[in-house]
Amino acid sequence: MTELITAYPWFAERNKHLAELHRQKRLPHALLIHGMQGIGKALFAKSFAQMLLCQQPESGKACGVCKSCELNAAGSHPDLFILQPEEAGKQLKVDQVRALGEFIYSTAQQGGYRVVVIDPADSMNIASANALLKMLEEPGSDTLLLLVTSKMGQVLPTIKSRCQHIECVTPDTEVAISWLMSEGDLDEERARGVLTINRGAPKEALAYLNNNLGEDRAQLIRGLADILKQRRSPLEVAQAWQKLDLELLLGWLYSLLTDIARGALCENDDSVRHEDARNMLNAVAKKLTPLESLN
Ligand SMILES: [Zn+2]
Repeated sequence: MTELITAYPWFAERNKHLAELHRQKRLPHALLIHGMQGIGKALFAKSFAQMLLCQQPESGKACGVCKSCELNAAGSHPDLFILQPEEAGKQLKVDQVRALGEFIYSTAQQGGYRVVVIDPADSMNIASANALLKMLEEPGSDTLLLLVTSKMGQVLPTIKSRCQHIECVTPDTEVAISWLMSEGDLDEERARGVLTINRGAPKEALAYLNNNLGEDRAQLIRGLADILKQRRSPLEVAQAWQKLDLELLLGWLYSLLTDIARGALCENDDSVRHEDARNMLNAVAKKLTPLESLN
């Protein structure tokens, strides 16, 4: 038997807000939970769903002992519907969305709420989004749809306009560091470094550690240093990088560039955040000409 889902500590405020809306019977039919990748939005949505289904929630949390909580812990609550692509990274099929319709317009089996979690909401094409639209407009009473996305720009406007938006910001750095220290068994300095590499997203930082991405990261930094010192040509370095995860690499390059821009605009060396490439980034930043002096 699995356990109930617990949201990360940095979602406490969001959870309190939604639980209060629920207590006042003011919850809308659909919430669009959005924010950056890797902070645990889907877990938050699922833990809130479990609280809504719980027969005796306490302080905005599921009790863990009632019949509903037992069903949720076993992953078999009949009034919870998790809609996600059949394969990670693929689109939600229109047939999957239609199957959701049967769930939404049936009666809650446990007599309470019916909750749907759609993760990610940006994985719908026009046909599946259209199939969902009517359900978003008239989902029936005591039904809540929780849509989750890290890519707001890819959620269709017609979907966005029918949901109340819940923005999830990047967790406070110190909170994230102490969480990462305990989950990843790290010291503070290392936790801070790994968090910076992962744009402040703690869950992503933990995945970075668990998937041993440190060696890929080191390969990126080594490659850049080799190009700068003319030890290898950009082409050779690019060929070596081909084996790495391209999306990940581009994300890292983007955030290194941000650091260089910051270093070029600020006088002090502390403006660079990536410790693992500090000297190189500062050296490049010093060679740059600020744009205004070009005019
Ligand atoms: Zn319960």
